[in-house]
Amino acid sequence: MGLTRALHRAVQVNGNGAATIAGARVQSWRAFTDRVARLAGALQARGAGRGARVAMLARNSDRYLEYYYATFWAGGIAVPINTRWAVPEMVFALDDAGAEILIVDHHFQHLVPEIAQAAPRLRTIVFCGDGQGPAGALAWEEMAAHGDPIDDADGDWDEVAGIFYTGGTTGRSKGVMLSHGNLFTNSMAEAIWLNLRQRSSYLHAAPSFHLADAAAGFATTAVAGCHLFVDAFDPSAVLDVIRARGATHLLLVPTMIQMLLEHPAFVADDMRSVETIFYGGSPMSEALLARAIWAFPNAALVQAYGMTETTAIATVLEPGYHTLAGPLAGRLNSVGRAASHVEVQVVDGRGAEHPPGGVGEIVVRGPNVMKGYWNLPDLTAATVRNGWMHTGDAGYMDADGFLHVVDRLKDMIISGGENVYSAEVENAIAQHPGVRLCAVIGIPDARWGEAVHAVVWPTGPAAVRGEEIIAHCRKLIAGYKCPRSVDVTDRPVPLSAAGKILKNVLREPYWDSQGRQVH
Ligand code: ATP
Ligand code: MG
Repeated sequence: MGLTRALHRAVQVNGNGAATIAGARVQSWRAFTDRVARLAGALQARGAGRGARVAMLARNSDRYLEYYYATFWAGGIAVPINTRWAVPEMVFALDDAGAEILIVDHHFQHLVPEIAQAAPRLRTIVFCGDGQGPAGALAWEEMAAHGDPIDDADGDWDEVAGIFYTGGTTGRSKGVMLSHGNLFTNSMAEAIWLNLRQRSSYLHAAPSFHLADAAAGFATTAVAGCHLFVDAFDPSAVLDVIRARGATHLLLVPTMIQMLLEHPAFVADDMRSVETIFYGGSPMSEALLARAIWAFPNAALVQAYGMTETTAIATVLEPGYHTLAGPLAGRLNSVGRAASHVEVQVVDGRGAEHPPGGVGEIVVRGPNVMKGYWNLPDLTAATVRNGWMHTGDAGYMDADGFLHVVDRLKDMIISGGENVYSAEVENAIAQHPGVRLCAVIGIPDARWGEAVHAVVWPTGPAAVRGEEIIAHCRKLIAGYKCPRSVDVTDRPVPLSAAGKILKNVLREPYWDSQGRQVH
């Protein structure tokens, strides 16, 4: 009962309908599934049988989707590689996962000699890009056209479908084992909350190696909808595809929403086809949310909170709550309520549930919780206890079951014995009109232990000064939460591949990797 079941159904109910549109290349569900069966046969002939790890290093395209399904069809385990990693990080993941097959596209083929030398377990390189591939590589197109089709392996729900490496926001990323059942649960949840239908078209704008995009893709297949692609997130390419193809569904992290809204070619009128914008992945300031509500008047906004380890979605803030007035207003500072089949609690250090309003660690239980971390049994045992996934995020629940994420436990600042949640301070700073982006961290302070420090990227040169930020915060939040120092900078924003601000990098001048003060 694997995820490939969705393909059999798509062929039956929408065989001639468009499965994928990548540039000028259009494939029906029947053609797509035929290629998947042949690709699976060719991969299996190269050793990618049940349980084999098959890695992919490529930008977004229809080939990426073929890769996921061909791997599942052969009974293998997908290991998507983060395209933003440096070669040693890629090699670490390939080795860690024990991948023997690596598929690359033209954007990454120049890395193949270096990777192949450093990752001795790799036996087969497959080229899925445009033009001439690296020497000795097999050709994806050849495999898709002439491979001997095999029967769908269609394994058990409990079998691992993929090893997804976490965002690496807080340190070295971990391989998360997600089963077909985990991903099926997520597909059903996304189909419900995003209102996916066969006529829907989902634009893969976030990187397909990241679980969030992959999972939204599996949900799109579950309803036999259409997949659209941009090869990497670029606001003008995204706007072009929306205009040209009438995309109905988008998944964006807050920094991507911001880039779209700021783009000179952004015209709200061109966004009429967009029905649903699914966002999450990091806190979004209420100021930016208010702008998004105004900029996408026809779109339902849906927020999710979750993590790779909870197969993307743990809670959902439904469209109705994305309003600045009326009876449903006032929920925008929450991440919504538990998704279907999911339990969410906030607990103290001993695992006892906090009453509403009490801040503690967010824990999640349900069929969406991962099978475990790959190769890290101790970490798995420490993280998933009695079925409860300990998220490492701090939050509180209100009396109506709305969850509020206040910070990552690792990002929480303890200043003079008081907890300061960086997201709350960032929310206050973001309301200043001269602020484009900001991040709040704790820095060493002889008197307070840690002091609140803000890094601010202004909307333009001289748009705002540090003292103004501090004065602005004083009007909005308690004195001990206000930044004591502000760095207004035009340095590039250190972003992870998923578009999250890397606070580790901002902390580097102040703390070493062991958390000791840098002098
Ligand atoms: P790593 O675990 O390697 O440090 P990561 O945690 O960023 O990376 P993901 O699994 O992609 O990797 O991200 C999950 C995290 O993103 C959550 O634990 C939470 O901190 C944050 N997050 C996700 N959704 C939201 C949201 N809606 N609001 C606030 N934070 C969110
Ligand atoms: Mg994490």
